Amino acid sequence: MRDESGKRSRRVAVVGVGILGACVGWNLARRGAEVVLIDAGRPGEGVTDWSFSWVNASNKTVTRPYFDLNVAGMAAHRELAGIIGPDSWWYPSGHLRWTDDPAAEAKFLKTAELLGSWGYRVEASTGAEVRRRLEPALALPDEVPVVLYPDEAWVHGRHLVDRLVGQVVAAGGELRFRTEVRDIGTGADGSVRTVVLSDSNRLAVDIVVNAAGPRASQVAGLVARQLPMRREPGVVTRIDCAPVPIHRTVHAPHIEMRPDGDVSMVLHSRETDALIDTGEEPAELARLLHELARHVIPDLANSRIAQAQVAFRPIPADGFPSVGAVPSVPGYYEAVSHSGITLGPVIGRLLAAEILDGARDELLADFRPERFPA
Ligand SMILES: Cc1cc2nc3c(=O)[nH]c(=O)nc-3n(C[C@H](O)[C@H](O)[C@H](O)COP(=O)(O)OP(=O)(O)OC[C@H]3O[C@@H](n4cnc5c(N)ncnc54)[C@H](O)[C@@H]3O)c2cc1C
Repeated sequence: MRDESGKRSRRVAVVGVGILGACVGWNLARRGAEVVLIDAGRPGEGVTDWSFSWVNASNKTVTRPYFDLNVAGMAAHRELAGIIGPDSWWYPSGHLRWTDDPAAEAKFLKTAELLGSWGYRVEASTGAEVRRRLEPALALPDEVPVVLYPDEAWVHGRHLVDRLVGQVVAAGGELRFRTEVRDIGTGADGSVRTVVLSDSNRLAVDIVVNAAGPRASQVAGLVARQLPMRREPGVVTRIDCAPVPIHRTVHAPHIEMRPDGDVSMVLHSRETDALIDTGEEPAELARLLHELARHVIPDLANSRIAQAQVAFRPIPADGFPSVGAVPSVPGYYEAVSHSGITLGPVIGRLLAAEILDGARDELLADFRPERFPA
């Protein structure tokens, strides 16, 4: 195969086809690279399918570079929706937040002020106004301060992955699903040469992208690299409800909720996540989430729990993404991140440019794999 400049393209194996692998693969394929997408299961059915899937930078103020990367992530989603079309995956309907705890309220109002000073769009409102203008089904006090972030969104991760994978195939890419990468072979100079699959196939490749999500440290181990990661599980519940009573992502006291299509909603709560390691059953955690949701949305009285799943956040040990080349293993790259729903499209674009052009973008300066010592 030839790339966009007419040179023989390099063959890239993308290991893991969640949102990160799909975005990297799509960007490479549309620029003419020869792409093989490999997944141990089915594309988009890892943590990408069990995410709260909120596209935002308002919750990413821990450092300015991380905030800036997430803002770029939001812009990259809008751009992607313009290229591949938004239907069935992109829901730019904004985000509402309020709380019943005075200390938490003071904190999020302060954050909103900071975000405003950084040029992020924030609108201050009240419970009564939100019910009248935006979300009539919410039970919240009339006077409570509510913050609206109008540029935030949610994404249907599995549908987005399906769309991107379809376009990689249309561009001549290869798919290898239900087969796991068991080994990565290197040459005498230490550079990547092959990947070995659990179905006994061995593929000759020039480049490997580790996009294995929560299992990224195992894949890193195949090139004798240590990628330290946190253990941070979360529980997500889908409920069946028709019609869906809210239109956007909502952070209410003790519970986060969003639509998930026309007949379903997704529920999540950091408070419930904290119970996972106490040995509480996922079904019981789902029941708790459902109860919290019905408290805020009385119209959910007749809804029912459809699915619940504990998933692991793919978080490198310091909490930030690990994206880019690992110079000690030529041809090996990482695309590993929490907030991967927000960051997938921007990481995909920047990493593809790094692989194909050697361009190291400043946006990734704080998030390079080399920060973890060999
Ligand atoms: C509870 C929860 C809430 C979240 N909320 C948000 C949110 O609101 N906003 C946000 O931006 N992010 C959120 N996240 C994080 C986000 O979901 C993830 O960062 C993102 O989905 C990661 O995508 P991924 O492609 O890296 O991983 P995955 O989707 O897990 O994909 C990795 C793939 O790699 C495959 N794989 C693994 N090992 C191998 C191997 N050896 N060979 C072949 N294939 C392999 C797996 O089968 C899998 O399909 C949340 C996460 C959780 C758990």
